[in-house]
Amino acid sequence: MNKSLRKTVIAGNWKMNKTPSQTTELINEIKPLVSNADCDVVVCVPFTGLQAAIEATRGSNISVGAQNCHWEKSGAFTGEISAEMLKEVGVKYVIIGHSERRTYFGDTDVTVAKRTRAALDAGLTVILCVGEYLEQREQGITNELVAIQTKIALQGVTQEELKRIIIAYEPVWAIGTGRTATARQADEACSAIRSTIESLYGKAAADGITIQYGGSMNAANAAELLAMPNVDGGLIGGASLKARDFAAIVDAASK
Ligand code: PEP
Repeated sequence: MNKSLRKTVIAGNWKMNKTPSQTTELINEIKPLVSNADCDVVVCVPFTGLQAAIEATRGSNISVGAQNCHWEKSGAFTGEISAEMLKEVGVKYVIIGHSERRTYFGDTDVTVAKRTRAALDAGLTVILCVGEYLEQREQGITNELVAIQTKIALQGVTQEELKRIIIAYEPVWAIGTGRTATARQADEACSAIRSTIESLYGKAAADGITIQYGGSMNAANAAELLAMPNVDGGLIGGASLKARDFAAIVDAASK
């Protein structure tokens, strides 16, 4: 498995943290620390911070992402934001199907597929999250589960569009808990996702797709996780809110 065939992407998921002014402040702290990164660096900030993030990252090697989008272009969907709206403000990436959206806000595999379609149509790159609950891991169905989540989300996605898909394997039991998957567990699930891509799109597509691990990745455990053959980066929650920790993960990915 040749990792050089694909991009390594380190993306911060800031969740519901940071006001616009705090966004500018944190990005200004991160910028000099990651300027020599040998991987793609993304910060996914709350909607209200997007404009500030886009201004603060201008001319740098950091791209900006959002954390969700609606599947319709416009209309009577109070409180929602469309993919087109994100595109017009300069957003490049959008996280779709994060487990917090699935758990607290009713996202399902079907709505994840609809959001993915809308994001691709708007020209965004999708960070598609899949992952199992602890009970599902204990039942031994992790690989089947991430495979089916991936298949449903990618229904109708063309080979060409797949180039704008990153998959984040995020075991739900590891998110925000301080409990990380072992490097072997992470690699095994990422490998199951890669096999699913191969069955749908062929070997070249499977070799080329970026599959991240997410779930309590931090400065101390990043190197081991990122060294695994099927782990091509990370989606980072808590540790992305501290400039030095986030930069240390970017450093680990750049080696
Ligand atoms: C996440 O929000 O996607 C995540 C992985 O969070 P944390 O790193 O805090 O577990």
